[in-house]
Amino acid sequence: MKITEHIKNAKGKTLFSFELLPPVKGQSIDWIYKGIEPLLEFEPPFIDVTSLREDYIYKEQENGLLQKVSYRKRPGTIAICAAIIHKYKIDAVPHLICGGFTKEETENALIDLQFLGIDNVLALRGDARKADSSFVPTPGGHCYATDLIQHIKNHNAGKFLHEDVETFKSDFCIGVAGYPEKHFEAPNLNTDFKYLKQKVDMGAGFIVTQMFFDNQKYFDFVNKCRENGINVPIIPGLKPISTLSQLNVLPKIFHIDLPDELTDALSHAKNNAEAKEIGTQAMIKQCKELIEFGAPVLHFYTMGKPDQTKEIAKAVF
Ligand code: FAD
Repeated sequence: MKITEHIKNAKGKTLFSFELLPPVKGQSIDWIYKGIEPLLEFEPPFIDVTSLREDYIYKEQENGLLQKVSYRKRPGTIAICAAIIHKYKIDAVPHLICGGFTKEETENALIDLQFLGIDNVLALRGDARKADSSFVPTPGGHCYATDLIQHIKNHNAGKFLHEDVETFKSDFCIGVAGYPEKHFEAPNLNTDFKYLKQKVDMGAGFIVTQMFFDNQKYFDFVNKCRENGINVPIIPGLKPISTLSQLNVLPKIFHIDLPDELTDALSHAKNNAEAKEIGTQAMIKQCKELIEFGAPVLHFYTMGKPDQTKEIAKAVF
């Protein structure tokens, strides 16, 4: 079922969902199941599976230490989606990215997804490779999420790269990313907004936001969307703090601000266990406010670790 239909059927009740990443090469799919099963009691109508263009390849040095030597794509996104649908009868949402994929490979992925009965995709550009200072499109691939959306729309209409197949139409519901605190490459919020609106005007049915820790940023973002005619569901993406180092790491990686209240509280934490407890309580408060505001879904970036999300979901659902 489409995410938009899940939200419509919920009639204003806030739903619960989460995102997983494929396991590193060599790890079994049990790692995925262990990330899902503790959260099934909150009845997620869908689970997202990310797509990773770059994964480290390590080589053992003479001194026994591992050194990063190169990168390659991490496999598994589509297969894990298939496994989720098969095992749990829950909709799985694969992330499709431009970076690392030719248009031909994207088309083949869409065909696989259609064969598997997957109804939703999250269309993203992807980040720059570690070796590049800015995003460099893959030769023969797409440049922006808007290009990928156009590709999916064509696919929905039965238009393929080299032929039109009138009988092979799909009906993917397309989700896109939104940034309450602006995408870091955009010169300002309004420019970023212009492209977000373009993504929605092209047919995106829902938006999932980058993580944020200050609900006011989400409320302002939703209000600005509505004022500008963006009327699709805006799903807040949430990541509770679980370690002390995230105080510096999350702002650096995700280009977001942590509010004073949270940083002040974390400055008193003596270890990761205390930081996690503070992060949990802060996220419970955030979630309660988001439910009151009418957020359609609370979408957690669990990274395959369900325990903290479970504690939070228990307190708010
Ligand atoms: P776009 O919408 O293409 O925007 C990229 C930048 O270009 C923005 O600054 C925008 O303002 C600008 N822009 C957009 N369209 C145009 C245009 N037509 N012309 C000129 N400028 C334009 N990354 C992964 O690698 N794998 C994942 O699975 C993944 N999942 C994510 C899930 C969510 C919910 C979010 C929020 C992010 C995710 N990301 C993922 C990260 C994402 O790929 C990066 O943030 C990336 O830098 C931007 O992707 P986008 O789809 O927002 O890009």
